[in-house]
Amino acid sequence: MKLVLASHNAGKLAELQTLMAPLGVELIAQGALGVQEPDEPFHTFVENALVKARHASRATGLPAMADDAGLCVQAFGGEPGVQTATYATRFGYEPGDANNVRALLEQMQGVEDRRASMVSTLVALRSPQDPEPLIAVGRVDGEITRAPRGSGGFGFDPVMFIPEFGKTFAELPAEVKNAHSHRGRAVRQMLALMREYWL
Ligand code: IMP
Repeated sequence: MKLVLASHNAGKLAELQTLMAPLGVELIAQGALGVQEPDEPFHTFVENALVKARHASRATGLPAMADDAGLCVQAFGGEPGVQTATYATRFGYEPGDANNVRALLEQMQGVEDRRASMVSTLVALRSPQDPEPLIAVGRVDGEITRAPRGSGGFGFDPVMFIPEFGKTFAELPAEVKNAHSHRGRAVRQMLALMREYWL
């Protein structure tokens, strides 16, 4: 089966291609088929992932899968959520991982409740009209540190402390992070759903 990935992120494509190979699924990046990214106007991960998957399926005539991910901080009522990637720009910084981390630590100065989750939502559709999308949500709970720690990973990894390991994601080997990350969990669930309902 051919499946379009509604993302322009080469890292995600490589990671998902490896994971989906055993299912006999050939993952194709939407960019390779000339599909542009649609707007993501919604407030929830699942709505944005659905709109991306539907857009890719409509544009290509193929089944499609999309993901939407972000950081949800308990003390901020779940924000920045779907706005995670552009968090720094709210405070006048240029976009990017380092500025996102800097802005977050500044905004959390004096905040005692450090609980936060990384969330990854995957949505897959057989067609744009598919009434029964497959939806997989992976979540990892942690605490935001008071300063960055470690040099691995990307994004908010240096401030995402995982109590189970006593380390931030950036201090853990990649294979340990991937085995326990929000994305790893969502992908494993999605593979199980595809096996059960699609194949
Ligand atoms: P996207 O799903 O790649 O667009 O990610 C949304 C935002 O969440 C970006 O700011 C990423 O840096 C951040 N993010 C996604 N996955 C991770 C992760 O595994 N660790 C840390 N930050 C992440």
